[in-house]
Amino acid sequence: AVATGRQRLTLLGATGSIGQQTLDVLVRHPERYEVFAVTAGTQWQAMARLCETVQPRYAAMADATSATSLRNHLAGLGSQVEVLSGPEALAELAAHPDVDTVVAGIVGAAGVRPTLAAVEAGKRVLLANKEALVVTGSLFMDAVKRYGATLLPLDSEHNAIFQCLPTEGVNAGVERLLLTASGGPFREFSAEQLKAVTPEQAIKHPNWDMGPKISVDSATLMNKGLEFIEACWLFDVPPAMVDVVVHPQSVIHSMVAYRDGSVLAQMGTPDMRTPIACGLSWPERVESGAQRLDFSTLIGLNFELPDLERFPCLGLARDAMAAGGTATAVLNAANEEAVAAFLDGRLDFMGIADVVARTLDKQDAPACCDVDAVMEIDRQARQLACHWIKERGC
Ligand code: NAD
Ligand code: MG
Repeated sequence: AVATGRQRLTLLGATGSIGQQTLDVLVRHPERYEVFAVTAGTQWQAMARLCETVQPRYAAMADATSATSLRNHLAGLGSQVEVLSGPEALAELAAHPDVDTVVAGIVGAAGVRPTLAAVEAGKRVLLANKEALVVTGSLFMDAVKRYGATLLPLDSEHNAIFQCLPTEGVNAGVERLLLTASGGPFREFSAEQLKAVTPEQAIKHPNWDMGPKISVDSATLMNKGLEFIEACWLFDVPPAMVDVVVHPQSVIHSMVAYRDGSVLAQMGTPDMRTPIACGLSWPERVESGAQRLDFSTLIGLNFELPDLERFPCLGLARDAMAAGGTATAVLNAANEEAVAAFLDGRLDFMGIADVVARTLDKQDAPACCDVDAVMEIDRQARQLACHWIKERGC
């Protein structure tokens, strides 16, 4: 359908930061793209506004109550949009035969099933929902191969690496993948200062405007840990081949180092519309709306190594990847619970790493051969994490 007409899309997580920025790119190219379906969690009012401007064929909410509110509201406006509800509806719209491309923009493990549904339907899948890949790992990548899906990374680092890799793949002379990290809002905080940081401080990222969960992950460096795991799976490289380099300006979005000493970097202003546009139009290029890099005002590029003492989450992610099995699913589940607790004042900032470490230590993480089994480990890990959160309390 890509060659014959407009690309038809399902946007999973349409009301979020990724969803909104995707729509901003799409509306610039109405001759190329058509929004077929949009989905969201519970924010039905944001979804109602979105339906009025975008006029998709379907809109789905994750729960029945918000779907009913949305349906009633849209009926009152005489809208033609059909409203569906429940996790099954999300998966159905991701796998719908009329859809070419699915933007995976749900946050957290909630995105596992709808994203996998898109993969199993052989879609072109634009992946922002890194947790889905971190949780299911080899199951996800096996499904990509088996069902012939096209997987394109939207995460800016992975999109940068994707652009810098040789078309023949990592085996054609690649020595290392270098993931850049901004270092987050607390890069220069002392261990003492880190103990007292608040959710308000944590969600104010210096370079990027993102949803609350990934903003906290950027502040703990768990985001870089999840991205490290994501890179190993996406590009099929051993963990020892992936390095993290702190680069506070976020101008270089990541790099690929080659056997002959060459290092290729992808640069741009920190604006997610660039990797989104790249994923949407690949192998072509379209206008994204992003501001251009201005080399006459660019002051300098700095680099440093990450400090694992102050930011233990990055080390925990490396440990989970090395442990194998479902350890990365356990890491993710514990982190989601800990971040939610931090955001509503039930856990202190350094408690996040502590809760993740304790859960990884105590939760069994066997290799699983199907998604149901992985999601059962996810459930158990959340239970254990909630126990540690209560115990540490604040
Ligand atoms: P967000 O919180 O702004 O949006 C999340 C979206 O997911 C919303 O539409 C929400 O309704 C939906 N959602 C939440 N819970 C759901 C559930 N249980 N069922 C169905 N839908 C649900 O988050 P975001 O910042 O857009 O991030 C989305 C994903 O993209 C995350 O995995 C994040 O790590 C990744 N990502 C985001 C950015 C960014 O700049 N925002 C950059 C790179 C990667
Ligand atoms: Mg990223």
